Amino acid sequence: MSTTAQTELLQVQNFVNGEWRTSHSGDVLEIYNPATAEPLAHVPLSGADEVNEAVRAAAAAWPAWRETPPGDRIQYIFKLKQLMEEHFEEIARTVTIENGKTLTEARGEVRRGIENVEVACGIPLMMQGYNLENISRGIDEIMYRHPIGVVAAITPFNFPAMIPFWYLPYAIATGNCFILKPSERVPFTMQKVFELIHQIGLPKGVINLLNGGKPAVDALLDHPEVRAISFVGSTPVARYIYERAAKNGKRVQCQGGAKNYAVILPDADMKVATNIVGESAFGCAGQRCLALSVGVTVGEAQKGFREAVSEFAAHLKTGNGLEAGTQMGPVITAQSKSRIEEVIDHAVKQGAKAVTDGRGYRVANHERGNFLAPTILDEVPADSDVPQTEIFGPVLSLVHADSLEHAIELLSKSAYGNAASLFTTNGAHARRFRHEAPAGNIGINIGVPAPVAYFPFSGWKESFFGDLHGQGRDAIEFYTDKKVVIERWS
Ligand code: NAD
Repeated sequence: MSTTAQTELLQVQNFVNGEWRTSHSGDVLEIYNPATAEPLAHVPLSGADEVNEAVRAAAAAWPAWRETPPGDRIQYIFKLKQLMEEHFEEIARTVTIENGKTLTEARGEVRRGIENVEVACGIPLMMQGYNLENISRGIDEIMYRHPIGVVAAITPFNFPAMIPFWYLPYAIATGNCFILKPSERVPFTMQKVFELIHQIGLPKGVINLLNGGKPAVDALLDHPEVRAISFVGSTPVARYIYERAAKNGKRVQCQGGAKNYAVILPDADMKVATNIVGESAFGCAGQRCLALSVGVTVGEAQKGFREAVSEFAAHLKTGNGLEAGTQMGPVITAQSKSRIEEVIDHAVKQGAKAVTDGRGYRVANHERGNFLAPTILDEVPADSDVPQTEIFGPVLSLVHADSLEHAIELLSKSAYGNAASLFTTNGAHARRFRHEAPAGNIGINIGVPAPVAYFPFSGWKESFFGDLHGQGRDAIEFYTDKKVVIERWS
């Protein structure tokens, strides 16, 4: 996968029990380069029997893997970190080719993926339990953490290199065996990463890769030997997976969709706010779960911000993410592009004004690519569908509030609670927003409040189903069972 001129379809395979296997399901999904529309692959959609093989391999590997000392387990992870650094550019380029985002954006997500690998190298410390002598005279109590068994993760298309790493390194470092089912729309990034995983010498079956769609997911959700499911994707699927996996007695964490608000106060540094909100709304073509897709201007901020952000949008260079100077790539599929254009049509019918209109945008020499230019919808009626709809495209909606209190009231009406940001130079306003905004990831003068790997990637309301999040200490809690021992030696 070295150029944009793809001439032959690339093979997508599963990695099960330490070897590459060609799926025999016969079902495939055709995928295309989002910038050029060139066919990339027929992605195999594995069936339940292939899921069973992967679970069998993982379950067979577990007894020896769980007994491998944590200090030995992390040696494999150190090797993975080293290989990912050596192949950093190749992985980033693969992300751009199959997802469409710019190379700079792709490098950013590979870096965050590696950061999770680095954090998991600290498992011998993070996995420690605790103890207390003399809970009664001569009696001591100790808490140990044990791995739970075979665990699986199901991930979305928008961060093919980063999101699998919210789970993979923590799962295996804590002594579990892991199955990844990446998005069928972006299979190549994990093919590349698993080529590296193949080289680190892990025992067979400890990490497995399965390509597929709903049938593969359902087989994982129903398999009695899969103990835990991690999911990231849209809210309807998150809810479905949470319910079905929980009904089957599994531990589940499901991150869902989002509609994130940026509140711009009149005391904000308008230049900083414009650049940061503009980058957040249109970066990755708006396909980030932390994209600030609604700008709430308060009081006098309205006019200045609207003009500045429209100017920002008008100058953003949209094109093939592999080309130098491109600031925004295409959306993932032609269907996504049509869907986003329809949402804009509908918003305009409901009274919004498209002050910057990206519908029907074409990039020279890439006429078949899935491009839209940045779109700004102003005067969006509060009771229209847009404030509640996750558009997942390069569309920023503007609404107005009379006060900070009013702005918090508006964003509180959202069914989602993934992120919210405030732009201000006033500490008291920042403190109030931080405390009152009902979202799991809060930014103060920050456009993409993505927690680093040693903090949980939070999310509230319809953006998250479960209790323990991905990354950091939550990951250790999720991937371990606590065993409490009470001892008396007379
Ligand atoms: P999606 O829900 O369509 O797919 C996600 C995964 O679920 C894929 O692996 C897919 O194969 C599988 N899947 C899809 N439909 C299924 C079904 N009916 N039954 C079982 N499995 C199914 O999501 P997407 O389009 O790949 O990703 C975009 C969505 O993900 C957006 O809503 C975005 O906000 C969300 N997202 C959330 C976060 C977060 O941290 N909250 C992070 C990234 C993306």
